[in-house]
Amino acid sequence: MNEYANASTTLPTQQLYIGGRYVDATSGETFETINPATNRVICEVQQASQGDVDDAVAAAQAGFAVWSAMPAMERTRIMLKAVEILRERNDEIAHLETLDSGKPLSETTTVDIVSGADQIEYYAGLISMLHGQHFDFPSSGFASVKREPLGVCAGIGAWNYPVQIAMWKSAPALACGNSFIFKPAELTPLTALKLAEVYTAAGLPDGVFNVVQGDYRVGQMLSRHESIAKISLTGEVGTGKKVMADAATTLKGVTLELGGKSPIIVFDDADLDNAINATLVANFYSAGEVCSNGTRVFVQRGLYEAFVAKLGPRTEALKIGDPFDPDVMVGPLISREHHSKVMGYMDAALASTARHVCGGSAPDDVALANGNYVTPAIFADCDDEMSFVREEVFGPLMSVLPFDDEDEVLHRANDTNYGLSGAVFTRDFARAHRVANAIEAGNVWINSYNDLPPSIPFGGYKQSGYGRENGLVTLDHFTQWKTIYANLGDFEAYY
Ligand code: NDP
Repeated sequence: MNEYANASTTLPTQQLYIGGRYVDATSGETFETINPATNRVICEVQQASQGDVDDAVAAAQAGFAVWSAMPAMERTRIMLKAVEILRERNDEIAHLETLDSGKPLSETTTVDIVSGADQIEYYAGLISMLHGQHFDFPSSGFASVKREPLGVCAGIGAWNYPVQIAMWKSAPALACGNSFIFKPAELTPLTALKLAEVYTAAGLPDGVFNVVQGDYRVGQMLSRHESIAKISLTGEVGTGKKVMADAATTLKGVTLELGGKSPIIVFDDADLDNAINATLVANFYSAGEVCSNGTRVFVQRGLYEAFVAKLGPRTEALKIGDPFDPDVMVGPLISREHHSKVMGYMDAALASTARHVCGGSAPDDVALANGNYVTPAIFADCDDEMSFVREEVFGPLMSVLPFDDEDEVLHRANDTNYGLSGAVFTRDFARAHRVANAIEAGNVWINSYNDLPPSIPFGGYKQSGYGRENGLVTLDHFTQWKTIYANLGDFEAYY
C-alpha cells in the first residue's frame, strides 16, 4: 500500500535538504503543513534560518564546482536516471502531492510528476548541444563565444504545482551546469524533498540540488543573497515586484512566472463542443488554481445562449470530492484563507447583476465539510468592470461575457495588466491567426488550451512575468556568454 495512501496520513517533522542529505534547520522554528481536504495537520516542517540558507549556498558552491566540470554526457546520464526514478516513484510522489496540495489523484498521477520528468528529459537531451560560436578575423585573430553557467541559482515556488515547479525550474538550471536551491511554498513543502532524494539517488553530486523550507523570509534571503546569481519565482504579481527589487540589490537575474486573467474568445463559427471542453479544462482543472487559466470567456452573440446552456450541465456533472478518490475531478482549495478569498469573489458575483448559472457554494456532501471545497461556478452576462472579472480569483469561477465583433473583443480581451495566456476558438483559419497574433499574451492557443510540451516557451507579457520557462530560450536565462578574442599577431599601440 502506498505510504501516503489516504487523507488521514500524518508524517514526522520534515527537515531541510542540503549537501545531498537531510539536515536539521537551526532556527528552532517550525510550521505546519495542512491537508486541504480535511484541514488536519500532516506534519511540522523546519523553517530555515539565514545560517541554513548560507549553508545551502556553500553546499551549492561546492556542488557547482563538481557538476560544472563534469563531462556533458555524464550529466545527461544523471539527469536521465532521475527521470527514470521519477517515473518509477510517480504514484508515491503523486499521492504525497495530493495529500499536501489537495489536487486530485486523477491529476497528480498523470500530469504533475509526468510533465516535470518530461521537462528534465528534454533538458538532459540538450546538454551536449550547449555549444557556442566561432568568429574568424582573417590575418588578425579569431573569437570564440561560449556559454558558461551562472553558478548558484535559486527557485521560489508557488503552491499550485509544487513538485512540477521544482522540476521546471531546476531542469534547465542543472542542464546548463548550475547548482540550485529551491524554496517550496510554505503551504506545500513536501514533494520538493522527494525530488531532492531522486536527484541524489540518480547520482547528482551533493549540493547541486538543495531544498530550504520556510515562508517568505526564506524567499527574501535567497533573493537578496550576494552569492546567488539568479532567482526564478513562480507567484503573484506583487511578490514578483518584491523579488525583483530584492534581486536588484545584487543585480542578479530574475525569471518571474506570475498571475493571469486570461481571455478565451469563442466565435460564432467555433465547434461548440470543442470550445466547451477546453473552457471547462481552462477553468476547473486543479480547482481553478492555475495561473494560465482562461477565466474571461468571451462568446460571440450568435453562439452565446447555446454555449451557456450546454456549459452549465457539463460543469454540474464534474465530480467534486476527496482528492484520493480516483474518479474525483475537483478537489479542495489549498487553504482556509484562500478559500475565504475565493468565496469573497463568489459573493461579489452573486451580489452583482451577472447571471448565476451554477456553483459557488459548499458541496452537499457532509463528508466534505471540513475541507476547503467550493463547487465550480459559472456567471454569465458579466461586465468587464466587475471585480471578479478583472482580478485573479485563482479558484473555480468562470465569467462568461457576450461580444459582437472581432475588434471589440480584442480591445476588451487586452484591457488588462495581465498577459499570460489566451485562446481563440473559430473554424476560420485566417481569423484564428489574426486574433492569436493580436492577443497580448505570452501563450495563445488556437482551438485548444493549456498545451505545454517542454519544447515551447511559457511565460507572460505585461505584469504576468518576465523571462520564460521551458524551451530553448530558457538556456539563455541560465547561462552567460563569454567572448574570448585571440590575437594572432603583434598588438600595435594606438599611440
Ligand atoms: P505567492 O506570490 O504568495 O508566493 C509564491 C512564493 O513566493 C512562495 O514560496 C512564497 O512564500 C514566496 N514569497 C512570498 N513573498 C515573498 C517575498 N517578499 N520574497 C521572496 N519570496 C516570497 O504566490 P502563491 O504561492 O499564492 O501562488 C499563487 C500565485 O502564483 C498566483 O498569482 C498564480 O497566478 C501564480 N502562478 C504563476 C504561474 C506561472 O507560471 N505564471 C504558475 C503558478 C502560479 P510563502 O508562501 O511560503 O510565504
